[in-house]
Amino acid sequence: MKTFEKIGIGLLLGVGLFASTRSVNADEKVHFIDLFGDAILLESDGHFGLIDGGEDSDNPTGNPLLAWFPGGEQILLNYLKSNIPADSNGQYNLDFIMGTHAHSDHLGGLRYVVNDSQITVNKAYLKEYHPEQMNLYNIMWDNQEEYDLLVSALNNEGIPIVKNTEELNQSFNLGKMNIQFYNTEVLDYAFLDESYKLDENHSSIVSVVQYNNKQIFLGGDLDFKTNPMNPLGDESRVASLIGDIDLMKLNHHGQILSNSYELISKLNPEFAISTWTGIDVYQPTKDYLLSQNIPLFETHYSGNIVIDFNKESFGLYDYTGSIPVAKPREPGWYLLEGNWYYFDGQISVTGWKSIGNTWYYFDSNGTMQKGWQAINGQWYLLDAINGDMKIGWHLDSSKKWYFLKASGEMTTGWQQVSGKWYFLKASGEMTTGWQLINGKWYFLNASGEMQTGRKIISGKWYQFNLSGEWIA
Ligand SMILES: [Zn+2]
Repeated sequence: MKTFEKIGIGLLLGVGLFASTRSVNADEKVHFIDLFGDAILLESDGHFGLIDGGEDSDNPTGNPLLAWFPGGEQILLNYLKSNIPADSNGQYNLDFIMGTHAHSDHLGGLRYVVNDSQITVNKAYLKEYHPEQMNLYNIMWDNQEEYDLLVSALNNEGIPIVKNTEELNQSFNLGKMNIQFYNTEVLDYAFLDESYKLDENHSSIVSVVQYNNKQIFLGGDLDFKTNPMNPLGDESRVASLIGDIDLMKLNHHGQILSNSYELISKLNPEFAISTWTGIDVYQPTKDYLLSQNIPLFETHYSGNIVIDFNKESFGLYDYTGSIPVAKPREPGWYLLEGNWYYFDGQISVTGWKSIGNTWYYFDSNGTMQKGWQAINGQWYLLDAINGDMKIGWHLDSSKKWYFLKASGEMTTGWQQVSGKWYFLKASGEMTTGWQLINGKWYFLNASGEMQTGRKIISGKWYQFNLSGEWIA
């Protein structure tokens, strides 16, 4: 039995940064729920739709390969009930559910949603299942059982099932979002030679979710297997119908037989998200995304990822309002939503970090800090743009001088710098002119230097001792 562990990440402890902007009716979001398989909640103008329901806990065929798949139905139900506002009857309403294809890591959880007495589903999109397209026991999984269980749950609840190609091809609105399905036809590959017989992944219904000129590609588990009818595979056939999009969920959890370079380059996404089924994203796919400057975020490492169409740059957050961590990331600087983060290994740096001989400070969210910052009871000055920690003398925008130690702390009181004494107020501001300090008068010239010995000031002679005290 395989085991798997969530990689913990400290970054995501919520601060509710965006919690205050949550309002049911204004939200246009896509939620990638962190569980085994796919479960993607669409949210628009108070309407909700669910694409796939993740893996469930049963294993009706006793297939040992399925035995370790962790069921996520409870995670899913909890997520829906905490993200969909209940109506006046205490019901959580889904305008629709859609099953991309008859694999239990997609269909499994949907039956629990349909059967839940607190959740109302108005409609189900579900293509016919055609087992004659497959020939291997291991890839038959529990497809038929899961499909039949879902269909009978839908029938028991009297929920209409949309399954013919023509109907599935009708684009429709969810709130203010537009949704178009592709790959809705039943692929008639049954006549093919055994070696060409297809996995159910080929049947995946593909969704393009559009709002406000931004498009998300959700391709289920579609793959690029070559077959005589589509020499470049089904991914390419579908991609050529869609063209440029903004966000791509990697097909088939980023696994080896999906996400051809041709697909990715045709879709040309700004960034990619991958869901998880126990295997990391195929390394060459990760390398290709990196080479194309397409950041990859994985629910398995980031937790739930929520895409917010209303954010200026198509922002993405986990459910606590933090920015999820991509893994793996090349160490280095990343500009996300106008803030700088520094990724060192798998997570973004927090606290002090020396980068290229300069110190930077990152808050608990990993956001690079700028300007004056009080940190552990000391003031530090960080560049207003680049965030680098200032040391030595610094003239601020209000023409005041400050002196920052080599370790960055703002200094106050008497400070000796290059053999000269200076006096800095509690605010850190360098003083000039006459100053009464602890009952003694001192004179600091225009450069802030404490005067000693005999000096002419405003045409008069004054005598200061070696400590700078005015004595006569
Ligand atoms: Zn899958």
